[in-house]
Amino acid sequence: MGCAQWLRDPHGPLHIRKTYLPRALPWLLRFMAETRLARVRHNAAALQALNRHCVDSLMPLVRWAGVEDLIRVPGQLYLYIKRESYEGDRLVNELRVASGESYDVLNKDEIRDLEPNLAPIFEVALRVHGNGHCRNPYRLSQALAERIAREGGQILRAEVNGLEVADGKIAAVRTDRGTIAPRAVVIASGMWLRTLAKLLGHHVPLESQRGYHVTIADPGAVPRNMLMVLDKKIAITPMETGVRIAGTVELAGLDALPNYERAEIFLGIGKTILPGLRTETHSEWMGHRPCLPDSLPVIGRAPNIANAFFAFGHGHLELLGAAPTDRVIAQIVTGQAPMIDLAPYRIDWF
Ligand SMILES: Cc1cc2nc3c(=O)[nH]c(=O)nc-3n(C[C@H](O)[C@H](O)[C@H](O)COP(=O)(O)OP(=O)(O)OC[C@H]3O[C@@H](n4cnc5c(N)ncnc54)[C@H](O)[C@@H]3O)c2cc1C
Repeated sequence: MGCAQWLRDPHGPLHIRKTYLPRALPWLLRFMAETRLARVRHNAAALQALNRHCVDSLMPLVRWAGVEDLIRVPGQLYLYIKRESYEGDRLVNELRVASGESYDVLNKDEIRDLEPNLAPIFEVALRVHGNGHCRNPYRLSQALAERIAREGGQILRAEVNGLEVADGKIAAVRTDRGTIAPRAVVIASGMWLRTLAKLLGHHVPLESQRGYHVTIADPGAVPRNMLMVLDKKIAITPMETGVRIAGTVELAGLDALPNYERAEIFLGIGKTILPGLRTETHSEWMGHRPCLPDSLPVIGRAPNIANAFFAFGHGHLELLGAAPTDRVIAQIVTGQAPMIDLAPYRIDWF
């Protein structure tokens, strides 16, 4: 099924609210320009250069925070209901191999052996090696914050509402809880980045690809692996808190209220895939994926401001890119050479 059909289907994986379309259009046109093959190859290679450092950057932090139990790296299973969907993904899978990922192609019987709780509806699967998942990103963040505090770090919860620049540096960060004279400022404010970037003279084409998930607390049927059901564009993950089904892209802006019907769609799809799934106890969530048109994050020093650094725009892949981004930012803040070439992630690229 192509994008045009998805847009016509209110339950499809891509939805643009009619009233938001005129505002989304300039971003969509830039996004479409990035679908040229040469750009796709360039952007995929740049994403991979960062994300291949995920596990080796994340695990030292996870161990430092004492929560190794939260990270599982047994691989992931990418499932196709129809063989033609698999064949339609030839370019994507070719890019996986080109970027150093490896996978086995499984048939129906092999899928059943690996995931006995799944309905026997899948023709093909890829077992992707080296990938994994976090069983509870919230507990991971809490554990990291607690360890930082134990080591003497201070976490101040405040809203930044002004940045004062003097002599090519940020001299003051104004917040609703007072003013701070910083040595270095890392701006990582997700979808709200535009406001702070504007204060430094940057107009960033950032759009929220809003997404939804449901977490089923007492699911009955649980997959052994993290599953990507590629015909349906959803991810099913065994979490510490139950089974999570996530997906969908909705363009509706930063302020529109969530439409939780888009999350409830996952319950029906989930039952088709995991026939034993009990969905009575579930929670729903909507979040923002801050996306630039080229699907690459912005990482690096702010032009002309010696002590300001950007780290935002990781889109669909923030947990994946967070630890390598933190590592690169720590390297450049402390004057070391970054472990990767930061040219593709410049803020002034646009
Ligand atoms: C349904 C769904 C599924 C996803 N699944 C995955 C996945 O499987 N793997 C993956 O890697 N990624 C996934 N993502 C993407 C990931 O969640 C996002 O990319 C990520 O949350 C963005 O992180 P961020 O830190 O850039 O922004 P945010 O998480 O939005 O954090 C920005 C922070 O900045 C704060 N802030 C903003 N402005 C100010 C200000 N002026 N002063 C002070 N603070 C401010 C905000 O309060 C917020 O806490 C998913 C997203 C969705 C929606």
